[in-house]
Amino acid sequence: MKKAREHVIKAVEPGSIAEELELSPGDVLVSVNGQPVRDVLDYHYLINEEYLELLVRKPDGEEWELEIEKEYEDDLGIEFENGLMDDYRSCSNRCIFCFIDQLPEGMRDTLYFKDDDSRLSFLQGNYVTLTNMSDEDVERIITYHLEPINISFHTMNPELRCRMLHNRFAGEALKKADRFFEAGVMMNGQIVLCKGINDGPELEASIERLAGYLPYLQSVSVVPVGLTSHREGLYPLKPFTKEDAEEVLDLIHGWQERLYREHGTHFIHAGDEWYLLAGRELPEAETYDGYLQLENGVGMVRLFREEIREELEKAKEQEQSPGAEGRRVTVATGRLAAPILQEAARAVEAQYPEVRVQVLAVENRFFGERITVAGLLTGRDLKEQLSGRELGDALLLTENMFRDGTEAFLDDMTAGELSGALQVPITIVKSDGKAFLEAVLGLEKEEKPKTAGTEHRGKQPYEHRP
Ligand code: SF4
Repeated sequence: MKKAREHVIKAVEPGSIAEELELSPGDVLVSVNGQPVRDVLDYHYLINEEYLELLVRKPDGEEWELEIEKEYEDDLGIEFENGLMDDYRSCSNRCIFCFIDQLPEGMRDTLYFKDDDSRLSFLQGNYVTLTNMSDEDVERIITYHLEPINISFHTMNPELRCRMLHNRFAGEALKKADRFFEAGVMMNGQIVLCKGINDGPELEASIERLAGYLPYLQSVSVVPVGLTSHREGLYPLKPFTKEDAEEVLDLIHGWQERLYREHGTHFIHAGDEWYLLAGRELPEAETYDGYLQLENGVGMVRLFREEIREELEKAKEQEQSPGAEGRRVTVATGRLAAPILQEAARAVEAQYPEVRVQVLAVENRFFGERITVAGLLTGRDLKEQLSGRELGDALLLTENMFRDGTEAFLDDMTAGELSGALQVPITIVKSDGKAFLEAVLGLEKEEKPKTAGTEHRGKQPYEHRP
């Protein structure tokens, strides 16, 4: 029989209930209200009570029984060593578009781990394919009201789904979404579009079926497959062209109009990459229905533009001035976002003629030129392409270039190492207009940027990015 996992406390939030109870890192949570805790789903369900009895074992073996009276949904402020409080489940698919299969060899082992764990959907907003979700998990999600569940649908054609995910149970797994719909569990959906496979009429049919899950399925994003130059031996996928992007946008806009008329929501959203590829203007802010899929790169560009405009207006009213006279900074980014940042830089310069902002587009030689998002740039590419250039007072890099919660790029180079190599201070900037303007003007506070994991913003539109 599998030995029950110990839930060791890693950290206690200052000012939390756990701190008041004198819990400390190294303590072990044994049970809640007399019940053992199987995993993080159990934990969140069990602590949602007004009265709790915790059994905790201290490092010297002494057991403490603690009684707590709290508001129903108050968190205890405990972080466990294992965030899932259980083993991580790896995926049982072999998707033809999997990004992890396209990683170059020799990267850190953890980058090759393919997760498909429904508990991460609830905890971190990850998208799951449902192929790995047991009936018991489905029931627990429904009973414990854990929502929204983020689902990678890709297609609603069961037979095609089996082929795309290389899993003969992938079509059948869609029935779990029926269960969530019947139980009124909120969901978000994602479609990674592959040229000639799940686009065109297949996409049309998928949207029609997905719309049947309204209102519990709140939004569905459509993002283009990410293709690196490391696809030897993999399914021959073709990149989308400008004309393809236009067709995808026309199809999605047609559905948006129809669904907005019928349901008052736009529901299906094209990732920003489609607009940039097609060279089309981005939709107005209202079209994004409250930016439900920012983490999938849907609406980030529109939101950033709006934020820059608002921040510049605010700064004008407050007569804010730059932190230093004649400030010169460089912003390095991927090819995709470079024109947007150029536009923002010109707007800042128009308001602050004494400030100069240079925007440099860095080519992704590590993953291949087709990967144009900033979030997949490596330290090595930045170092090679920025060496010897005049970078000014600071180099600004967005936080999505760094692995969650660290200052290390995907290839393990750190911001400090890059700064040393380029001989320029580096500022890591949150992906929003306020942070951008403050960093450009040299007004940023000491506060560290939040990680993408806590803010759910700044990830890239790829299935299971490393
Ligand atoms: S794309 Fe996701 S679900 Fe598919 S094989 Fe890769 S890790 Fe697994």
